[in-house]
Amino acid sequence: MSDDQITVVDPRTGASSGEIPAGSRAAVDVAVEEADRAFATWSALPQRVRSQFLRDAAGALRGHREELAAIESRDAGKLIDDAQGEVDAAIDSFDHFAEAATDEYLEQPLPDGDLIRRRPFGVAALIVPWNFPLLIAFRFLPGMLSVGNTVVWKPSERTPWSAIRAHEILSTVLPAGVIELVLGDGRAGKPLAEDPRVKLISLTGSTGTGIQVGEASGRLLRPALLELGGKDAVIIDQGVDVEFAARLVAEGAFSNAGQICTSMERIFVHRAVADEFIERLTNEATGRWSLETQPGGHLGPMIDERQRSVVESHVADAVARGARVVTGGVRPDGPGSYFPATVLVDITDEMLVMTAETFGPIAPVAVVDNFEEGVRRAASEEYGLAATLVTTSEASIAAASVLDVGIVWINSWHGYAEGALHEAGGRSGLGAIGWKGKSFLDAVSAPQFVSRGGR
Ligand code: NDP
Repeated sequence: MSDDQITVVDPRTGASSGEIPAGSRAAVDVAVEEADRAFATWSALPQRVRSQFLRDAAGALRGHREELAAIESRDAGKLIDDAQGEVDAAIDSFDHFAEAATDEYLEQPLPDGDLIRRRPFGVAALIVPWNFPLLIAFRFLPGMLSVGNTVVWKPSERTPWSAIRAHEILSTVLPAGVIELVLGDGRAGKPLAEDPRVKLISLTGSTGTGIQVGEASGRLLRPALLELGGKDAVIIDQGVDVEFAARLVAEGAFSNAGQICTSMERIFVHRAVADEFIERLTNEATGRWSLETQPGGHLGPMIDERQRSVVESHVADAVARGARVVTGGVRPDGPGSYFPATVLVDITDEMLVMTAETFGPIAPVAVVDNFEEGVRRAASEEYGLAATLVTTSEASIAAASVLDVGIVWINSWHGYAEGALHEAGGRSGLGAIGWKGKSFLDAVSAPQFVSRGGR
């Protein structure tokens, strides 16, 4: 492999699934140029025409839904049913934004003939991570297009294949330049983030990269939507349905092999229910969440060896500081970057599993004397994406309102209503980004006040 190529690795086998360009300023330059050129025509189209393009895009992608899911499943190590669900939801987003960006949204009347016009920014850069390659890309991309932006899309160098195929399909229905794809790692991401012709940038990724993108955006006085790392807490109260709590936490900690920014990474459980909770969570880890290589198992591999090593080092640090491994904790023999669902107890707050983003199927369980202690310890972390509360007490819910997080899930995890809007706390991000509809469009279009004076 030459220096200007990156080998992409199949997480189930460790074998190469192909090579992509490593990325270059020159390639970024061409892509931004094309998107910039397409912007004038695309943004000037009547809304109903842009909406029809988005519907056509959904139709074209839907014709390849199983093919895209198969690619996603292989590339990101997902179970095929999960990959299909994500691909279908990703495609639906084109139909959603075909309807959401209405003429009424783009020109919002005020009294006396005044109005607020929503304008596109211009070329938008979209840097997408490897944990949900198409789902995260299409959470943003159709909405960005719908209000008239054009997009330069950089998939992760670890999972580029579904983006490459989806872009080929989209290119058969959308005008040239409306979506440009750039491949590579930071050698593509950095020049893209620094390009002054990029007028809006969205990054879902690590806090470190987010700070660099934010710095570049500050210099260019350009908005940046940054969805970054997390270390989400779940606090389990006394008097709850422990079986339900254990199932919810297993899902929150082990789904997608724990590689979700809003995974539950710190678990605080009330002493009154702790023993039963740990036993039931362990049963979940060794049952439903056993490795997919075992019958009935739902846990896929980690994205690659690098990520598995991070997880392993966090477990080793916890054990060295006195934690006990109840189940898991050791990489299995055989190919692929698998790591088992792991339950750790005897946890203290200075362990890496409680301070640094682990991004793996690890459930560190800290026992607390009361819910308030759980809230206090949950609040000590500087990340602030989301928190989950398992409780039947309104007083406990009220006590948790001090948490500096963008989302609070109560007796649930990962629900997003249309219109949901959140801004991460702490080092987890910048910019309020809605889930769908107007609350999303507000983040990807700029308001212009138009007044007829006359008063
Ligand atoms: P990063 O945020 O580190 O990288 C994202 C992409 O941006 C990579 O392609 C990276 O290239 C590139 N990049 C590097 N420097 C710049 C720059 N200055 N400007 C623009 N782009 C740049 O994410 P990773 O995918 O490497 O994952 C690392 C960690 O991020 C994970 O372990 C996890 O903790 C977190 N993460 C969070 C996610 C979330 O949903 N919030 C999703 C995925 C990961 P290069 O690889 O060369 O650095």
